[in-house]
Amino acid sequence: MIIHLDLKENGYDIVVERGILEKAGEYLDLNRRVLVVTDSGVPEAYAKTLAKQCKAPIICTVESGEASKSLEAFEKLLHAMLNNGFSRNDCVVAVGGGVVGDLSGFVASAYMRGVDFYNIPTTLLSQIDSSIGGKTAINFGGIKNIVGAFYQPKKVLIDPELLKTLPQRQISNGLAEAVKVALTSDRELFEIFENKNIDENIDEIIIRSLNIKKSVVEEDEKESGIRKILNFGHTIGHGIESSNTQGLYHGECVALGLIPMCGEEIRPRVISVLKKCNLYNLVDFDWKKIKEAAFHDKKADGDYVTVTTVDEIGSFEMKKMNFAQVTDMAENCLKG
Ligand code: NAD
Repeated sequence: MIIHLDLKENGYDIVVERGILEKAGEYLDLNRRVLVVTDSGVPEAYAKTLAKQCKAPIICTVESGEASKSLEAFEKLLHAMLNNGFSRNDCVVAVGGGVVGDLSGFVASAYMRGVDFYNIPTTLLSQIDSSIGGKTAINFGGIKNIVGAFYQPKKVLIDPELLKTLPQRQISNGLAEAVKVALTSDRELFEIFENKNIDENIDEIIIRSLNIKKSVVEEDEKESGIRKILNFGHTIGHGIESSNTQGLYHGECVALGLIPMCGEEIRPRVISVLKKCNLYNLVDFDWKKIKEAAFHDKKADGDYVTVTTVDEIGSFEMKKMNFAQVTDMAENCLKG
């Protein structure tokens, strides 16, 4: 299945196919120097399988985890390219999750003012979300994604087989993004979650989620308007994430953040889907901290915040709401 992202001169194909990693060379131009970036948590065999198909591969492995979205890791990759004589015509391939994708996309955007970048995402979250849309970044000064670039890949290869090694909790983390886009934009996808076996339908879940993100990104490449719907659930989700001491993952926090933004009539259906995905983790929240963190979030505008709400599955509204009203509503919903 090929999904073409239509972005004028920045357009590219996302190819979704089981086993595609083994034949990546048929889809990507690897007949040159290739910096293969991966992390220490991704099975080594994946980067090696890709490297075998390259004329001149250099595998660079960063530590797994968010800490690798750093200037140090950025520098390490630039050194690897420089020391190995990379030219403007060589390329970077990410073989990993969102951390590897964000870091190596940014490196590709910067080296000699931009070399070709390919992404082979290996987590569910990166397969349905972070690998498309062209946002690349590292963290700096304690602030997430504060330094980066919009830089579109030349191609994205999605191999659902690679999810076999991904821990179940990371699968749930990615499913949160799929549930999110189903709620705003695809009633049938939501019904797959409700009525079907998730593992058996994971390819369809990936493809449908990608198609939604595709249409949003095509309409708003640089996030000036409609792309903000992708932040559905994030006001409260980010508040929970930045104040949580329980180590909840991003997707787990966003999943909880979706609940108060859904109308009362559909809320029980949303909760039951989240339970099915292991995403209904009502922990002991510190609401004072959540409210402070959500308030400092970049989307808060004075006493008001623009939130996306869903009353009917598959459609959404964007509303400017009083901030205190949103957080009180969330507290009521997530009391447990
Ligand atoms: P991640 O990249 O940290 O991967 C999670 C863990 O899974 C890591 O330990 C990794 O080593 C391991 N792993 C990866 N693939 C594996 C596999 N197939 N089998 C076994 N283990 C595997 O996390 P993530 O959730 O993929 O991405 C999170 C990052 O993505 C964050 O930094 C976030 O800011 C970013 N992000 C970016 C965008 C965007 O538009 N650019 C969107 C959403 C999130």
